Amino acid sequence: MNIHEYQAKSLLKKYGVAVPRGGVAYTPQEAETVARELGGPVWVVKSQIHAGGRGAGRFKDNPEGKGGVRVVKSIEEVGKNAAEMLNHVLVTKQTGAEGREVKRLYVEEGADIKRELYLGMLIDRATGRVTIMASTEGGMEIEEVAHNTPEKIVKVAVDPATGIQGYHTRKVAFALGLEGKQVGSAAKFIQAAYQAFVDLDCAIVEINPLIVTGSGDILALDAKMNFDDNALFRHKDVEELRDEAEEDPAEIEAAKHSLNYVKLDGNIGCMVNGAGLAMATMDIIKLYGGEPANFLDVGGGATKERVTAAFKLILSDSNVEGILVNIFGGIMRCDVIAEGVVAAAREVHLHVPLVVRLEGTNVDLGKKILAESGLPILSADNLADAAEKVVKAVKEAA
Ligand code: GDP
Ligand code: MN
Repeated sequence: MNIHEYQAKSLLKKYGVAVPRGGVAYTPQEAETVARELGGPVWVVKSQIHAGGRGAGRFKDNPEGKGGVRVVKSIEEVGKNAAEMLNHVLVTKQTGAEGREVKRLYVEEGADIKRELYLGMLIDRATGRVTIMASTEGGMEIEEVAHNTPEKIVKVAVDPATGIQGYHTRKVAFALGLEGKQVGSAAKFIQAAYQAFVDLDCAIVEINPLIVTGSGDILALDAKMNFDDNALFRHKDVEELRDEAEEDPAEIEAAKHSLNYVKLDGNIGCMVNGAGLAMATMDIIKLYGGEPANFLDVGGGATKERVTAAFKLILSDSNVEGILVNIFGGIMRCDVIAEGVVAAAREVHLHVPLVVRLEGTNVDLGKKILAESGLPILSADNLADAAEKVVKAVKEAA
């Protein structure tokens, strides 16, 4: 789960990470009020969307105008710029061409930027450790730095048994070219961010840019936090920060039914139990020349209700021209699945070809239920057969 920049800054601040003062605003009037309370002479008005690249982004209705992060010098300008941003669609490198409507702003005191640096933390699956990434190339996308100048990124893995130590933070501080009292401030900053990362079960904490101010202070000018969904149950306060307007409606619906759903660009909808089998199903669809429309894992205990919800979800994607159901009945019995598929197909008035491959417990009974349903369901004997059939059926229907 992602949260907004202002929320991330507020969480990080509680752990002792240095951030500029600021306040959230939902209207231009609120933005002016926040600015007045902060005091001048310089403010930054920042669009709050769950996507980066806001500074360089442009508003859809004014591509020649300014971006989603604006430095202004009067209360009046705060209000004027807020009005230009609120309820307008911002397009950035990360939003895709359709962009995102800005519903909230963050108004901050302006910072005197001397250097822009990068600090990130994530879980490195290879080492199984929280890894700190730092670079002198702040302000630009780290993916770009990693691609063009990988030598400019330093990585420090933290052993969970020892936690973060002085040598970790010194290594990062020196790699960032910090000196004097900045090394100590950076150490405190990095330790605080690390503590937040671990305590809050983060997947990513990214400060880009981390700045050094004219007076030598270290500050988080931007902040991104992403949380491990599987640990959210123990962070109710974090879960409350969820902004559903920023999330894909289909994925919200999927989460309600405990379905693991990721929309993709193809036209063959997939309903599978088990993530591994779902991946294999997507691969084999591609092998037979098709393109999967989604990844969908209905999980081990797929009930009739869940199968129906999954069907509706797949069909809510207008790109879907065929569906492949691939279920291995281990704990689940194939006859129960078949009944679920038949009921769901009736309920949603299925209008695209449906291929079903069942294997496992009570498979014969399951196939009999499908055959006797009177529905135009194509039964398949194995995974390859199923993939071939659905790709062919979609081609013929087109
Ligand atoms: P992003 O584009 O979505 O990553 O948004 P950021 O919060 O990183 O802001 C983009 C850029 O705006 C930063 O890299 C800074 O160069 C600039 N910026 C943000 N806040 C301030 C500020 O307080 N003062 C000045 N001068 N520039 C700022
Ligand atoms: Mn940024």
